[in-house]
Amino acid sequence: MATLSRRALVAPAVLGLAAAPLAARAQASYPTRTVTIVVPFAAGGPTDTVARLIAEAMSRDLGQTVVVENVGGAGGTLGAARVAQARPDGYTLLLHHIGMATIPTLYRRLPYDPINGFETIGLITAVPMTLVARKDFPANTLQEAIAVIRRERDKLNYANAGIGAASHLCGLLLMSKVDAPMTTVPFRGTGPAMQELLSGRVDLMCDQTTNTTEQIRAGEIKVFAVTTRERVPSLPNVPTAAEAGLPDLEVTIWHGLYAPRGTPRPVIERLSRALQAALKDPKVVQRFADLGTTPVPEEQATPEFHRQFWMAEIARWRPLIQAAGQYAD
Ligand code: ASP
Repeated sequence: MATLSRRALVAPAVLGLAAAPLAARAQASYPTRTVTIVVPFAAGGPTDTVARLIAEAMSRDLGQTVVVENVGGAGGTLGAARVAQARPDGYTLLLHHIGMATIPTLYRRLPYDPINGFETIGLITAVPMTLVARKDFPANTLQEAIAVIRRERDKLNYANAGIGAASHLCGLLLMSKVDAPMTTVPFRGTGPAMQELLSGRVDLMCDQTTNTTEQIRAGEIKVFAVTTRERVPSLPNVPTAAEAGLPDLEVTIWHGLYAPRGTPRPVIERLSRALQAALKDPKVVQRFADLGTTPVPEEQATPEFHRQFWMAEIARWRPLIQAAGQYAD
């Protein structure tokens, strides 16, 4: 008995001593295998588009494959939970958007900690949104669209990616400004929602330019406004919401990269450097520009800036959500 218990006491101590240099070596050589970026929305949507571009460019810098895995559903909370609960070893990451700042207030019961469950790696980009409609929607300007929304109200279907999604947020803003509720139809992401808009099965959507630019340019959907203060260079003929007579419908969708809480600092720093390299990759810069956005400057693609920005965003959205009383649960 005595021997056994002494062994039991001694063994972890010996292992601990041996494990420390091993862990340090593992971190120094990181990554040694495929890294997975979880996107908390369906494939083919705007967050997925950003993630696939970033993953490819980061893999060039890291010298390892970086794959994207779509875990859509519940407004982005399923994918976030998956990463918060993953091993903090740098091989499972999360690429999410502004929902990281609204979900902590919108959802009062979550199976993960929406703030302390994550380490920040860096911001990526801020993407404008567009208010779009099916091709045969009976309006050609924002004012005409508002008149149709006020007249038809909940007979109209507004597609979104669930409570907490950017499309949900933009829809709430729109409905409160025009003072008319529409019927919201949630999808696992706005990739599938776009397919429904293209086939005319839903009427309206507000979504990032990273998912709408090509369909707008091809004339496959109608567009009424962009949600930025200035016009978007890649869509020069589309008025801002303010120009089109709806001031304050202003929102851009920032994206960031996260790791599970407890991921070793050297790994976070390596990932942040790879992200900064990806944001300078000419292919990323060009494709972002085609889709109406630009990478953040290098100093914002850092863990510190990202965390500060994220905390400020949580503080900005909390009183607005609480005042609206529109909780997900
Ligand atoms: N754009 C979506 C949203 O509404 C998410 C996505 O599918 O990327 O948040």
